[in-house]
Amino acid sequence: MEYSENFVNRLLQSKRLVILTGAGTSAESGIATFRDPEGLWSKFDPLELASIDGFLANPKLVWEWYQYRVNIINNAKPNGGHLAITELQKIKDNLVIVTQNVDRLHQKAGSKNVIELHGDIITNRCFDCEKQYLGKTLLPNNELPKCNFCNGKIRPNVVWFGEQLPQKAISDSENHAKKSDVFLIAGTSSEVYPAAGLSYLAKQYGSFVIEINPNETNFSSSADYIIREKSSHAFQNILNILKD
Ligand code: NAD
Ligand code: ZN
Repeated sequence: MEYSENFVNRLLQSKRLVILTGAGTSAESGIATFRDPEGLWSKFDPLELASIDGFLANPKLVWEWYQYRVNIINNAKPNGGHLAITELQKIKDNLVIVTQNVDRLHQKAGSKNVIELHGDIITNRCFDCEKQYLGKTLLPNNELPKCNFCNGKIRPNVVWFGEQLPQKAISDSENHAKKSDVFLIAGTSSEVYPAAGLSYLAKQYGSFVIEINPNETNFSSSADYIIREKSSHAFQNILNILKD
């Protein structure tokens, strides 16, 4: 698509660029989104698999589900979108990435300044005493991994439905959103709060808010500019604009 002159100028002049990413930016790495027709929540029940109550009711089921996703994520490679964002960061060196993804693909692509709003799927912690662990798995014969200190249940370090986001991650993100001059949101349905609120906050504070998404979202009608493309394509085009 032909990008507008206003969009290109905003991008070139931007001194405080923030990119907010969602599951769609990892779709081209083969990691399923949640809310698309083919997304995970069309096949699985979120409250059973991604809530405290679900975990306490059936921790083995929840562990099997996370292990299934960890396997996919460990084998996934950053796509052209992640890699272009890493290159963008070399041009706009204070570029901040705020992600709702738990897959660490921005970091795998070499990006810095990544704020994880929903935790990550790679590390774990004790449900009871919060002790941090790395790479725990279900034990042979499907026994649950237990905490070495308190014998509590180990859980994934992700934010589940009904849980608070990490306080520093959300307050840092809000500050970056307020200070941004261009706020780019990519691959998110803008349905999950408080993450979705960041785009409105950025707009309220005068930022130019751009949506990258092949499909319409809840935020579309509030966007200052919309790129209806897949994120790999859009970010590579943006990189080319900034390189010229
Ligand atoms: P979502 O599933 O609600 O929405 C995905 C959005 O991505 C949709 O609007 C869709 O149109 C768009 N999309 C699909 N393919 C795209 C592409 N190639 N390029 C650009 N956009 C594309 O995802 P969400 O808004 O991130 O919310 C889901 C929640 O689930 C998040 O909180 C996240 O923590 C979690 N999640 C994470 C992962 C991951 O880590 N990769 C995957 C699934 C879900
Ligand atoms: Zn413990």
